[in-house]
Amino acid sequence: MAMASGTGLVGRLAPSPTGALHLGNARTFLLAWLSVRSRGGTLLLRLEDIDGPRVKAGAAQAALDDLQWLGLDWDGEPVVQSARLERYRQAATALAAAGRAYACVCSRREVEAAASAPHAGDEGPAYPGTCRGRFASLAAAQAATGREAALRFRVDVDAVPFVDAFCGPQAGATGGDFVIQKRDGGPAYQLAVVVDDAAQGVTEVVRADDLLPSTPRQLLLYAALGLAPPTFRHVPLVVGGDGRRLAKRHGDTTLRHLRTAGVAAAAVVGYLAFLSGLGPASGRAMPGDLLAGFRWERVPRQPVRGDQHGLSG
Ligand code: GLU
Repeated sequence: MAMASGTGLVGRLAPSPTGALHLGNARTFLLAWLSVRSRGGTLLLRLEDIDGPRVKAGAAQAALDDLQWLGLDWDGEPVVQSARLERYRQAATALAAAGRAYACVCSRREVEAAASAPHAGDEGPAYPGTCRGRFASLAAAQAATGREAALRFRVDVDAVPFVDAFCGPQAGATGGDFVIQKRDGGPAYQLAVVVDDAAQGVTEVVRADDLLPSTPRQLLLYAALGLAPPTFRHVPLVVGGDGRRLAKRHGDTTLRHLRTAGVAAAAVVGYLAFLSGLGPASGRAMPGDLLAGFRWERVPRQPVRGDQHGLSG
């Protein structure tokens, strides 16, 4: 599935169709696009639609429309994760067969109740190891308990230090054993993203820094599957005046809303460029106009405040 690129650089846009794209997502996608297009690489698109309950009907097509409206393009056909479930299952099964993952029947509530430590950021409490070494296989766990079992990856190190190409050196806390295949048999995000980035030949991942704490887990999966990890660049989230991630409470910053209010794509991209240190306040630009001036060094490392956009129809 990997596509040839003159430079060998392969990036991707990986929207989750769980809601409408807003200015924060759009800024991340613009930076991912600029990083690859400014260096003549290949940019793929993958729809990450495996987060069952959160996926919204029509959101995948809406995300593609919004990206195109912004002037962001990609190479080849979009890859859709829900069409690749067998690949994830094979990888999870191989990790279990190699003794790297084990069957776990704990519910989320049990894990939370058993964890002594307070929640460790976005990644939830560290798994206390209840089912480690308890069952010989997924089938054995189900037979013994009458419960559906997940597959959990065995983490034997406290940290996987790594260097993020945007944020610099990271301590890389791993946070304990983590689920790679859910109790309903579907893949966990951590596994699907690694299987896909490797299968698609992705060499650079640009994404929001709320996924920085997931990266050590993904690096463990790359190593366990014998795959080479990409370069990671985690960019700061766009926040509102209260310092919290841009969300509905900060007003409607969805591209859909701005677009129906008659705001021009060039005004939105110009604003995102301003938030990224790549253009003047109130400037107008389309993505292609930003290519010549794009440098990662110009992009601010702190969270950027994006609720004062002044964009109106
Ligand atoms: N689909 C994820 C999101 O929209 C991005 C995952 C990734 O880039 O690894 O937040």
